[in-house]
Amino acid sequence: MRKHIKGIDASPGVAVGKVFLYKEEELFIDRGEFENTEIQKERLIEGREKTKQQLLKIREKTALKLGEDKAAIFDGHITLLEDEDLFEEVEELIEEEKISAENALEQGIRGYCDMLSNLEDEYLRERAADLKDIAKRWLYNIAGIDIVDLSSLPENSIVVARDLTPSDTAQLDLNNVIAFVTDIGGKTAHSSIMARSLEIPAVVGTGNITELVKNRQEIIVDALTGDIIIEPSGEEKTTYLEKRKAYLDEKELLKQLKDKKAISKDGKEIGVWANIGSPNDIQGVLKNGAKGIGLYRTEFLFMANDRFPSEEEQFEAYKVVAESMKDEDGNYYPVTIRTMDIGGDKSLPYMELPKEENPFLGWRALRICLDRPEILKTQFRALLRASAFGYIKIMLPMVISVEECRKAKALLEECKKELREEGVKFDENIQLGIMIETPATAFRAKYFAKEVDFFSIGTNDLTQYTLAVDRGNEKISNLYDTYNPGVLAAIKSAIDGAHEGGITISMCGEFAGEARATAVLFGMGLDAFSMSAISVAKVKKNILELDSKIAQELVAKVLEKSTTEEVLEEIDRFNQKYL
Ligand code: PEP
Ligand code: MG
Repeated sequence: MRKHIKGIDASPGVAVGKVFLYKEEELFIDRGEFENTEIQKERLIEGREKTKQQLLKIREKTALKLGEDKAAIFDGHITLLEDEDLFEEVEELIEEEKISAENALEQGIRGYCDMLSNLEDEYLRERAADLKDIAKRWLYNIAGIDIVDLSSLPENSIVVARDLTPSDTAQLDLNNVIAFVTDIGGKTAHSSIMARSLEIPAVVGTGNITELVKNRQEIIVDALTGDIIIEPSGEEKTTYLEKRKAYLDEKELLKQLKDKKAISKDGKEIGVWANIGSPNDIQGVLKNGAKGIGLYRTEFLFMANDRFPSEEEQFEAYKVVAESMKDEDGNYYPVTIRTMDIGGDKSLPYMELPKEENPFLGWRALRICLDRPEILKTQFRALLRASAFGYIKIMLPMVISVEECRKAKALLEECKKELREEGVKFDENIQLGIMIETPATAFRAKYFAKEVDFFSIGTNDLTQYTLAVDRGNEKISNLYDTYNPGVLAAIKSAIDGAHEGGITISMCGEFAGEARATAVLFGMGLDAFSMSAISVAKVKKNILELDSKIAQELVAKVLEKSTTEEVLEEIDRFNQKYL
């Protein structure tokens, strides 16, 4: 009987193996009366001591396997175990109600866990799981029941459990466990955190997988998507083994390329940057080896609020990003922050936007900001203040005219003047750039290059405005095509215009992360690529294998093509030969 189950992808990877069903022996708790309370108190203390010794051993193993910081989790557990308030409460229950040590401990712990589980803070809620973990060990030790040993497992085991506590996870036989799956749990549970640092694929929160599987049954865990297949077909196994290989190959590649600069065969250094939507994305950016932020979409900061974020709130967010983007020597990487791009498909709950027939052609982005200069000025001031803490560049979206650039520049200058007068520090050389998202800027780029310091091509919008194809309309999604010769001509014109005008040009639309397009974009002379962090390694790898002259020959051929099909044929032939 095959089954498909969906859970939460807690730690990435793919595994094809056999179920090791982890179910503990049932604990029987005697609910009767016990006159001799002293014996029960002694059992409580002995159980606590045994638990402490076990936790110290697990701590030692964890320190060896995962390092001191992860081992420190168990210091916290021992502190919880030795909590005097909890202990006194349980002792009192034994004394007053004349119940067994197990019964009293279970009741005492329940009270603590209920209190923690009802807290707003997700981190504290997860600590209830730690307390339950310790209590379980303590209870089993009082009752004299052995705890199942996860430190020696059959080969290719996928551990399936109701929950895996941190101490379970720490004991896992790493030579033989290839993944784990649980009924409950979330991404921030310690077991999930540990799975990620052990690099064990894990899917949690499946609901009832422990009731659906049997020991040694074949199972597939796709922890990239959260999918589980019980008793897969031969074909499914082959597919997922291939997916696993592709994932591992890519991971290996990522490791090798992480610290490398993207320098082509003929010595041209290209920026490989990442796009972010919030300061929380930074960790992934650095982990994937991006050496800058090519687009920080600030509208998410505006959308996540119930009012316009204040200058101070914006300043904090921009400062965190600027400060954290640096190399080991403390040199700051560029962080390109885009001013609010609201309108089109992005609305603000607290801002009345007019109902428009064509919102993508309507009151959006810079148009709103220039009509409501107080919004742009607040953002500029926050950006300028944050620029004292790193290497910030400011970028304007949806530009169609030189006048818009000049108006925005004048507002920026006003803000600089104000800050100087207030004695607030900022980067006096801060760069102001624009996105190339409209044909009006792409085809006359050299005129815009005289006005601003850099360009970044937003192919998501440039494609929709060049082809007059709504990027969100599924009915015409087959027409939405960045390889269309008209769009490629617009991109080439923007790059040439930038260089003629003596400024640099990057790309931060999705097309920059498309490995198939790296050669042609590099050949056109793009200076930097900015994309989702996950694509960084692939694009870096391509750049390392390219030579400008050969890539320029590809571009010359591609620009002569009449159809997308011909363009792709030419590109694929090239990629097969050189990448
Ligand atoms: C783009 O249009 O390519 C772009 C990067 O901006 P967004 O996707 O946020 O519109
Ligand atoms: Mg855009």
